[in-house]
Amino acid sequence: MGDGERDPVARVDELRSLIRHHNERYYVHDAPEIPDAEYDRLFRELQRLEELHPDLLVPDSPTQVVGGAAATTFAEVEHRVPMMSLDNAMDEAELQAWGDRLVRQLGPETAAELGYVCELKIDGLAISVRYEGGRLVQAATRGNGRVGEDVTANVATIAAMPSRLPDRLPRGGAVPEVIEVRGEVYLPVSAFAALNTAQEAAGQRTYVNPRNTAAGSLRQKDASITASRNLAFWSYQLGEIVGGPTFTTHHETLELMDRLGFPVNPNVSVVRSLDEVYAYCRHWQAHRHDLDYEIDGVVVKVDDLARREELGVTSRAPRWAIAYKFPPEERTTVLKAIMVSIGRTGRATPFAVLEPVFVGGSTVGLATLHNQDQVKVKDVRPGDTVIVRKAGDVIPEVVGPVLADRPADRPEWVFPSHCPVCGSALVRPEGEADHRCPNELCPARVAGNIEHFASRGAMDIEGFGEQRVQLFQSLGMLRDVADLYTLDVDRLRELEGFGDTSIANLMAALEASKARPLANLLVGLGIRHLGPSGAQALAAHFGHLDRIMEATVEDIGAVEGVGPVIAASVVAWFAEPANRAVIEKLRAAGVNFTGPERSEAPQVLAGKTVVVTGTLAGWSREAAEAAIKERGGKSPGSVSKKTTAVVVGESPGASKLTKAEELGVPVLDEAGFAHLLATGELPS
Ligand code: NAD
Repeated sequence: MGDGERDPVARVDELRSLIRHHNERYYVHDAPEIPDAEYDRLFRELQRLEELHPDLLVPDSPTQVVGGAAATTFAEVEHRVPMMSLDNAMDEAELQAWGDRLVRQLGPETAAELGYVCELKIDGLAISVRYEGGRLVQAATRGNGRVGEDVTANVATIAAMPSRLPDRLPRGGAVPEVIEVRGEVYLPVSAFAALNTAQEAAGQRTYVNPRNTAAGSLRQKDASITASRNLAFWSYQLGEIVGGPTFTTHHETLELMDRLGFPVNPNVSVVRSLDEVYAYCRHWQAHRHDLDYEIDGVVVKVDDLARREELGVTSRAPRWAIAYKFPPEERTTVLKAIMVSIGRTGRATPFAVLEPVFVGGSTVGLATLHNQDQVKVKDVRPGDTVIVRKAGDVIPEVVGPVLADRPADRPEWVFPSHCPVCGSALVRPEGEADHRCPNELCPARVAGNIEHFASRGAMDIEGFGEQRVQLFQSLGMLRDVADLYTLDVDRLRELEGFGDTSIANLMAALEASKARPLANLLVGLGIRHLGPSGAQALAAHFGHLDRIMEATVEDIGAVEGVGPVIAASVVAWFAEPANRAVIEKLRAAGVNFTGPERSEAPQVLAGKTVVVTGTLAGWSREAAEAAIKERGGKSPGSVSKKTTAVVVGESPGASKLTKAEELGVPVLDEAGFAHLLATGELPS
């Protein structure tokens, strides 16, 4: 056996029973226990062992059959043309290996002339829909490839599915007497999000991903549930066909389906070489999240139907097609611990400490778990193997535990009763999801407040990030935001890493911040519910901090753009003696209490719309948007035809950039932005 390899007979047995178990979880229960990438690993290990030891190969091995079980809940439907699986390629080399096999089978000359159809590999479930005499008569799942389940009533609820075909083909020609259209039923990402929002609002468990939800929604006994889920459909393959036009290529069959009124994905592309195939795969790997449906790869099909016949099929998959799979966005890892962090408002947020795992393009070691209820709903426990998902630029998420790996005696995680930083008893007000540390003087809260005060959207003081604030705090130099202005320069000099230049920079940044407009100061105080626009409104109305401090709830609530909740919160904040003391310290330090600085800016952006994405070096997002608005422009969160320009900083949102490219909206860097603000014109 060598290299300490295990007994292949035992391992092959073990892999087969594991894969059969996961097939059942995935195809029958629509509730897989492991991510697809882990399943693919098991499957490939079995394939490799069977190649190395051909004597172990048996016809009913999972590598030889189409995954999934025959009908259980529904009546059986025998497929007249089998519904097959697909072989996979994980990278360019494997795609090339498939191309080499085509050359071996067809000969180099024929292979050189092949055309390929590239299609998106939609992550849903395959169905076959049969029409006779122009009417939908039967719809079936793939099942084991030969026998599927009758889901006609469910499929009939899908809005995109024609119930009747036209009498004549548009642009002429007869409609086939019998036609089976195959394709993928899927749940649009937006419909999935809406479904989960509704689940959350009803206090129900949320769904894990669109594919399993689509499969579960379609395989409902009660078709009215299916109808409520807004499933959609892309058609990509013909099954049986009797009558109608003849054709010689796959792309002609797609055109026929389109003419008959079936949805055919607009991103299908016919190409002439594997290089072009690979370019298509790379393009869609980068843009997969621009779509409103999930894709997990690209399906490449030989276009010429006669060549397909020649290439034939194996027991499980056609030789004329291959699925190029994208790198996984779901992986498993170990949940080492659940810890709780305290934010500036006292909010206690549990987060997962993970064995670092590379998923969705980056290494993930921490992931938020939001609140106690989320931990409970997900039922994750320290020590569990968990599924981690990171899709595109979305923040990483712990999807749930792999229950099969959990020992029966592993205890549930218990939300701490006390603040991990200051030890105060945590409170969870009735009807709220979050726990809070009520201690205003909790060092974690104070540190959060000071960082917030110094942040760009508030007093914009360079040099007071998390680590510095915690250092000064631990030395007793910072107890509240006002202490920033009385930092002891001599003590700073004694600290490691604080030379004359860095101290001078800190002092200059502090000095400059004293002149910030009143609205920035109000934001910096961190009054609950008071955001930048409320702060602007108060500053503009009252003009001086003292007048705001004297105002009643009614006075403040009467200001346009400020509601009763903000008003009550502002008044309560200023009524607190400790807060008053901070204000007096700020006054003594010479911090500006007046505002607003009336905008003198010429209205060069009137009627224009400028979208900002990514981090700019010289502007916070709020400041950039404020600068656009001050000049009469609009700055919404998404790109449309009407957008004048998109300003792009570090790590921009992929969808905004792509949209801008698609619509031909000019993209500006920071220098271009400065030019636009100064002149209202795009840089040439
Ligand atoms: P497959 O998903 O690799 O490929 C075949 C399927 O691709 C077709 O049946 C069809 O449904 C789909 N498809 C999407 N777009 C298509 C297009 N344009 N043209 C043709 N087909 C298209 O193979 P499979 O046999 O359905 O399933 C195997 C895969 O399913 C695994 O690789 C894994 O990703 C997943 N799986 C996961 C688990 C698990 O436990 N997580 C278990 C079983 C299967």
